[in-house]
Amino acid sequence: MDALENNTVPSTPLNRRPIMKRNSQGLKQRPSHDTEREFGGTLGALCIPVLLPLTVMFLIGASRSPEASLLQWPPALPSTDQLWDPLAPVLLLGWISLHALLYVLPLGKLSEGLVLRNGTRLKYPINGFHSLCISGVLLMLLLGLGAPLGSLFELLLPLAACAIAGSYLFSLYLYIRSFWVPSHALALGGNTGNPLYDFFIGRELNPRIGNFDLKYFCELRPGLIGWVVINLGMLMKEVELRGSPSLAMILVNSFQLLYVADALWNEEAVLTTMDIVHDGFGFMLVFGDLAWVPFTYGMQAAFLVVHPQALSSLGAAAIIALNGVGYYVFRKSNSQKNQFRRDPTHPSVARLETIATATGKRLLVSGWWGLVRHPNYLGDLLMALAWSLPCGFSHLLPYFYVIYFAVLLIHREDRDERQCRAKYGLAWDTYCQRVPYRIFPYVY
Ligand code: NDP
Repeated sequence: MDALENNTVPSTPLNRRPIMKRNSQGLKQRPSHDTEREFGGTLGALCIPVLLPLTVMFLIGASRSPEASLLQWPPALPSTDQLWDPLAPVLLLGWISLHALLYVLPLGKLSEGLVLRNGTRLKYPINGFHSLCISGVLLMLLLGLGAPLGSLFELLLPLAACAIAGSYLFSLYLYIRSFWVPSHALALGGNTGNPLYDFFIGRELNPRIGNFDLKYFCELRPGLIGWVVINLGMLMKEVELRGSPSLAMILVNSFQLLYVADALWNEEAVLTTMDIVHDGFGFMLVFGDLAWVPFTYGMQAAFLVVHPQALSSLGAAAIIALNGVGYYVFRKSNSQKNQFRRDPTHPSVARLETIATATGKRLLVSGWWGLVRHPNYLGDLLMALAWSLPCGFSHLLPYFYVIYFAVLLIHREDRDERQCRAKYGLAWDTYCQRVPYRIFPYVY
């Protein structure tokens, strides 16, 4: 299979690209797991699984309080009786079962992943977009039958609590089952022998039940599609409260639906991401996929239910234009690099200026990748800002995503730089001289 590049929505809250080194054969390898542990090693593995779930709870709680303050100290967490509703586990299990069923339906094509350490390739169904469309049709039917989708607003905390509890249990299952698989099926970085760290980072690379790939399934389906369903629930809640959805709510829903649909339309690209190729499936990815993304990425819609915002047509037009520009930059730059890596002789990229590297691969120095070194991050960040702007300027909370995302992408860019410098040496330095800005032209 051609090496597709990552142009989709990676899902871990701490999304990162591990530093890679070359072995004597020039093949990429993760660094020795004895010497290099990510996310602060054992301390990180101890703190992150506690702090991030608390952050999810705090954000949901804060988004519905009148103050909606991100900076309150000490942070107010929801009380335990707000966290339980017997309907929540039923809905969550039903949702995951529905997507498991859609996953196994013979829709779409089968695609091969990259070559594994034992020389084999796994097959993956490329039918995430079908799942999104079928979920959409089912939701419309349910709405037509009068299903109270707006109740998702009241259920948000119990649902998040169940998703978090489920993430712990599922990660425990993954950790335990990893002791029964052959060593070539383990992720190189998740097999340190430190149970806490391995549980967190993930031991097994591609845990499967038969042909059902658990990591690939979780990457872009229940959580990502769940995010847009939660958004729709917030919109329906607004309709219940105020008779019709606000312009701000419609914009947030539409922008984020576009983002998710784009990720699923380009689902095949996830097969070459670090998440699939290198990372074990442990708490970090499980929690990111099933709890962090659906319950924090849609914070703007939850905020708008309690804090309605008046948005002028002019303001809306400006925000739509910003999202459009962001999407255009994001999609065009990702597609240009994908095309170039798949087939550098393709007419759409053949005329772009490139520089040679010692590895035989070339680097683009014109087109989108001649503008800044990460035009795709620039586009993504412009979109993130456009998702927050409909929420006005009275609160910081709806800007949580864009702030978190900027920090994440700046950090990710830095790691990618180090990786590329290790890979391409002098050629990378030449690229950096030719294209001096990393993400924002003339700024950074
Ligand atoms: P990128 O798509 O930015 O890929 C980086 C790789 O591209 C480099 O390692 C290098 O790999 C190659 N490359 C870099 N410069 C050039 C060049 N000039 N010419 C040719 N190839 C080059 O990786 P990411 O996974 O970080 O990002 C993918 C998308 O996912 C982005 O749009 C990002 O915004 C988005 N994202 C979204 C997140 C979310 O939570 N919503 C989180 C993280 C990312 P090589 O040379 O080996 O091909």
